[in-house]
Amino acid sequence: MKFDYKGAQKVDLIIEGGIIATVNDKTGIVSKDKVIVIDKTKIIFVGNKTDAINVYSANDVIDASDKLVLPGLVNSHTHTPMTLFRGVADDIVLKDWLYEYVFPLEAKYINKENTRLGAKLAFIEMIRTGTTTFNDMYYFTDDIAQVAEEAGLRAVLSEGLIDFPSPNTKTPEEGFKYTEDLLNKYKNNELITIATAAHAPYTCSPELLKKSKALADKYNVPYHIHLSETAWEVGIIKEKYGKTPTQHLDNLGILGENVIAAHSVHLTPEDLKIYAKRKVGVAHNPQCNMKLSSGAAPIPEMLAMGIKVGLGTDGVVSNNDLDMFGEMKTCSILHKFVSNNPTVTSAKTVFELSTLGSAKVLGMEDKIGSIDVGKKADLIIIDLHRPHLTPMYNLYSQIVFAMKGSDVETVIVNGRIIMKENKLLTIDEDKVIAEVNEFAKEIKTLKKYKLD
Ligand SMILES: [Zn+2]
Repeated sequence: MKFDYKGAQKVDLIIEGGIIATVNDKTGIVSKDKVIVIDKTKIIFVGNKTDAINVYSANDVIDASDKLVLPGLVNSHTHTPMTLFRGVADDIVLKDWLYEYVFPLEAKYINKENTRLGAKLAFIEMIRTGTTTFNDMYYFTDDIAQVAEEAGLRAVLSEGLIDFPSPNTKTPEEGFKYTEDLLNKYKNNELITIATAAHAPYTCSPELLKKSKALADKYNVPYHIHLSETAWEVGIIKEKYGKTPTQHLDNLGILGENVIAAHSVHLTPEDLKIYAKRKVGVAHNPQCNMKLSSGAAPIPEMLAMGIKVGLGTDGVVSNNDLDMFGEMKTCSILHKFVSNNPTVTSAKTVFELSTLGSAKVLGMEDKIGSIDVGKKADLIIIDLHRPHLTPMYNLYSQIVFAMKGSDVETVIVNGRIIMKENKLLTIDEDKVIAEVNEFAKEIKTLKKYKLD
């Protein structure tokens, strides 16, 4: 196969023989017998093998016969190091979840080393389930960036700033300095984009919210925030400011094209109009919203209004995994259920939300989210020889309603193969799992968390 290609132009990798599915409507489903040619970090050709064979010669060829090639999935909202606390706080409401469990556990256990460990565990899970880019808000962002780069993942990372001391910074001022240092450190990095973040309108003062947005604008990067997640949040913001959380942020001049508003569940028709007008991007997290009974975000309405929507898992303490395939299925069936209309959130629409939709929310649609010439080579290959994927009548239906993250066997990010035929090439999986189990021993001794 490698020797089929006899052209003069030497390239790094060619994928041939698979079914290629992407969401760019110009391309649609590319039938079998097409090849994807990758050189360095980019896709440079998608087309017939007969047209490639005398143009290119390849260092490596992947035979994807009877397999499916997709753009890597893009998780538009998560907190990766929280894998350390998977399953500590189930079956409770968000307010208690946050103030009784998450914040105290983070204050006690989140330091540089544990952040790196939790992030590594998350990266293993994400690679294994086909996520190639993720948008993260946490602490010790520099450490997450270093580990993500080593793992070979693409990431948008932000330090979650908040009115009270965080595990990493004693004051918001310290947090701003830390963020600005990272914005300079990772400028022009191939894989890492530093963003700014304010945790939420109820944990951040108007000054902090505005300052964080000003920093995002100064460096032309995304601004990441949790917004209108619960009815409780809407209630306290209304009581304090006499406005909905969306109106509150708009009044502060914060809403704009670079805003990634995670959740966006409780929005009035006026709030939706503000989102559309300000071109706010939404990171939709259906499993988290269902598990915490936060509600169902008005996704069909947003899509009808042309609002940018991407899909995300949120952290695993509220999910409890990072599998975007599961998230796609939940997204589709949740909105069919709540709207009493099975025609909304079709399989193809939801597949788009998890690829190009999320890429648009992150402001990266010119780089990732579809299989097109000129885009970064972020691709996943799926084994179709599975009982739950047989027979195949409708490709998008199969991807969203039947496929599982564990069906992913090969993952390529930025032209680099980071998992090949289920073997991870950039992280020592056994070592990380052993270290996390060691970490968990102490958490298990805490009576409060009722973990026995
Ligand atoms: Zn979140």
